[in-house]
Amino acid sequence: MDSKKYDYIDIEQKWQNKWFEEKIYLAKKENKKKFFIHFAYPGVSGYLHVGHMRGFTYCDIIARFKRMTGYDVLFPAGFHASGIPSIGFTKKVERKDPNTLNDLKEYGLSDIEIKKLIDPNEVVNYFGAVYVKDYWKKFGFFIDYSRIMSTISDGYKKFIEWQFYKLKEKNLLIQKPHFAPFCINCGPVAVDKSETDISKGGAAEILEFTTIKFKMKDGTILPAATLRPETIFGVTNMWINPNVNYIKAKINDEIWIISKEALDKLSHQIDNVKPLNETISGKELIGKKCIVPIVEREVLILSGPFADPGVATGIVMSVPAHAPYDWIALVESGEDIDPITIIDVKGFGTNPAKEACDSLGIKSQSETEKLDIATEEVYKKEFHTGYLNENCGIYAGISISDIKDAVKDELISKNQAVIMREFSEEVICRCGGKVIIKQIPDQWFIKYSDENLTENSKTHVEKMNIYPEDYKKELPGVLDWFDDRACIRRGSWLGTEFPFKKDWIIEPISDSTLYPAYYIISKYVNEDKIKPEDMNEGFFDFVFLGKGTSKKALWNEIKKDVDYWYPVDINLGGKEHKTVHFPVFLMNHVAVMPEGKRPKGIFVHWWVTQKGKEKISKSKGGVEHIAEAATKYGVDAMRLYYAHVGSPFVDIEWDSEAVTKYKNRIANIYKMIIQISLLKDKSDENLDKWLKSKLQRSIKSTVDALDNYDLRVATNEIFFECQKVIQWYLKRGGSNKKLINDFIDNWIKLMTPITPHLAEEIWHRNNKGFISNEPYPQFNSKDISEIEEVGEYLLSGVTEDISEILKVTKIKPKKICIYTSPSWKYEIFRKAIDLSSENKLNVGVIMKDVMSDPKMKKISKEVSQFVSKLPGEVMKLNDNDKKRYKVEIKEDVYLKKSKDYIKEIFTCDIEIFNADESKIYDPGNKIRFAVPLRPAIFIE
Ligand SMILES: [Zn+2]
Repeated sequence: MDSKKYDYIDIEQKWQNKWFEEKIYLAKKENKKKFFIHFAYPGVSGYLHVGHMRGFTYCDIIARFKRMTGYDVLFPAGFHASGIPSIGFTKKVERKDPNTLNDLKEYGLSDIEIKKLIDPNEVVNYFGAVYVKDYWKKFGFFIDYSRIMSTISDGYKKFIEWQFYKLKEKNLLIQKPHFAPFCINCGPVAVDKSETDISKGGAAEILEFTTIKFKMKDGTILPAATLRPETIFGVTNMWINPNVNYIKAKINDEIWIISKEALDKLSHQIDNVKPLNETISGKELIGKKCIVPIVEREVLILSGPFADPGVATGIVMSVPAHAPYDWIALVESGEDIDPITIIDVKGFGTNPAKEACDSLGIKSQSETEKLDIATEEVYKKEFHTGYLNENCGIYAGISISDIKDAVKDELISKNQAVIMREFSEEVICRCGGKVIIKQIPDQWFIKYSDENLTENSKTHVEKMNIYPEDYKKELPGVLDWFDDRACIRRGSWLGTEFPFKKDWIIEPISDSTLYPAYYIISKYVNEDKIKPEDMNEGFFDFVFLGKGTSKKALWNEIKKDVDYWYPVDINLGGKEHKTVHFPVFLMNHVAVMPEGKRPKGIFVHWWVTQKGKEKISKSKGGVEHIAEAATKYGVDAMRLYYAHVGSPFVDIEWDSEAVTKYKNRIANIYKMIIQISLLKDKSDENLDKWLKSKLQRSIKSTVDALDNYDLRVATNEIFFECQKVIQWYLKRGGSNKKLINDFIDNWIKLMTPITPHLAEEIWHRNNKGFISNEPYPQFNSKDISEIEEVGEYLLSGVTEDISEILKVTKIKPKKICIYTSPSWKYEIFRKAIDLSSENKLNVGVIMKDVMSDPKMKKISKEVSQFVSKLPGEVMKLNDNDKKRYKVEIKEDVYLKKSKDYIKEIFTCDIEIFNADESKIYDPGNKIRFAVPLRPAIFIE
């Protein structure tokens, strides 16, 4: 520690080497109080980016803080290797995807090493090693590396098998038909916001179109799909795209005419779909007729170039009275067809679609923006206030919001419709393939709709610590909404074979629910103390549920570990997990684990975004690699950036300028501390008391904030407020070496969870042993000196005010006079503060109270002038200010002691007056405006 320059690359590497050599990260059972924290383990899909480090860093900060406050901390980590991601990666390597190969080469892999990555297990091994070495260790994380595990290891698979035995035992595994998202290359995939399997379309929903069969004269069927089957009563014509070649297909014993795209989709969703080798152009169909089912009305087929072959069947039924698009198309077609009104709606006459179009001035089909607005307006009003009218047969009089599936069910039961499913937006697999919807007749599900399970899970949520508070309120609703989840798939993915159906693999969301429990076992597997083949149902029953008897001494040891460490205290994960991972994490624990082993806490953090508020993803380009960023800024700077730049519960935008500022701040703090050690030793009673007191204040605010995981507030106190404190002390001439060293030692202990490398480096200038193993500073009220705190606050306010005045007036002062406020003002001020805390502050009330005092009555003119301004003055105060006025301080005495300091700054005569003294120098009789702790200042 000789150089003044902070060489973060060497320093960070040095301390990591020492920590990891001595394995100080191992979880130990020493203190009788434990804390189990983990982050949602990452999927293995390639290199991670700086956005991922945000949550990981939060976890390490909290874990380190808990360690230093006397907890035995278990902070394990692993990889979620199940499912498609690593297989998708091998496919990219296999087909020599240029971006992928480029990334790997840039990372330093040879051609031979790259070639190995066509094996998914190698992909998991390779990236697993990168995550540990280049991300987690590089950031100095105290993860217990002896417990690293992956979800495709043999031991983990035994654990997952056991979990499914337990779900089956509890009747939470069921079978039913299922329409599942399916990649044309990979097979079944999961479509959800966590985008584990897919690269696009995480928010897509599966829409169920009622596909209605309109029969032509020769019996051929023209199927038109709708989300509003009740509007069938208002169909006046059909739309066919004249520019599309439709296909004939045999479906069961019917002949259908549909678009090629629709045929592809349907063939995965319904049985017995056979294309006939016959196309028919749209033009040929125009002018022909077909029959509307139920109403048995014959309608004309018209030309509608807007009928998109990619949407549903490519054939559209026209309801011009209620669909603005159909109305305008009908007008433009010039056909003389009357719309049929089927819904009576408040605020509309006989043709809602026409009226909505007219009010927006829509004249043409090309005005799609306006048409969308009109459509939404009509649909909304109809849904909320509409009733089916006498044109709707037996359905007349039913409100639109109540009709639900009635018409659809009638059509289906009469074999006049089928359901066709389609995504609300395009979904693309990680392999690049298109995702479609496919029927699986006897799919296995985890029954999350189970009423008991849902209720018990909701009850458990009430007992949990959930950050942010808002998510705790949302979660019961999410649990209510969470439906049965298809839990297995067949295809080439990684994962555990489903114990009740050979060749089917448990899907990745379903195999990542109870997993924190496995971190307790993984240590023994990694140390080869237990073999996966010995981990049978009896073993897991014994160690997790306390059922059955121990077959080996080791089983008892493991059970003791489980009983000590479990449950999880904090599961920390990104906001994408709010609706997928966290609910299943909770519900599986409630389903399988006994009461005392269910999770105690969840911490949700928001994302790091790129400019434009998009979630960072490498495929969208332009984000820094973790290793590069670590070299460029230093990991302490990045840790500080994540902790301080924003609340954990808002998205932050990656900003290299901001990270650079944190980097400079760290170098700055380091430099300042080195310089302090060169000072001469000298003590000053007041100032020293002040420094001690301020240190305690900082300790208290930091610990209070960290106890609530309020990382931003804590970080602000440590890296900004503490630095201001020591700077003020030095500026005021403070130079007590022992005290300064004590301040610094405490200060860097406060820093340790956030910037551990910096703290360790400074610690070792005077101390041995790791600061990471030191106890965290604890608040000691004995060192609080309120008089000194208020005195220095007064002084800094006075010097700031003078500087401000001089800056504005540009006067070169000969003499500065400072008038402190008279003690009667203190008395009134305190009364006013008390009243304001009860919301009773009012000039009249104070005047009445004050004037009962004869002493005040004597100076009633001044008093009333002062009181009239009081409410405004008190309003300006924050809570800290208010506390300051409770302290009895003689302002003039405190300032007189610091006269030399003020003189030194402004290099002129300084005079300090107490307004209580009768004979004072008072230019213009203005000192009545001096407010307590804010003296009046006059400059000559
Ligand atoms: Zn795929």
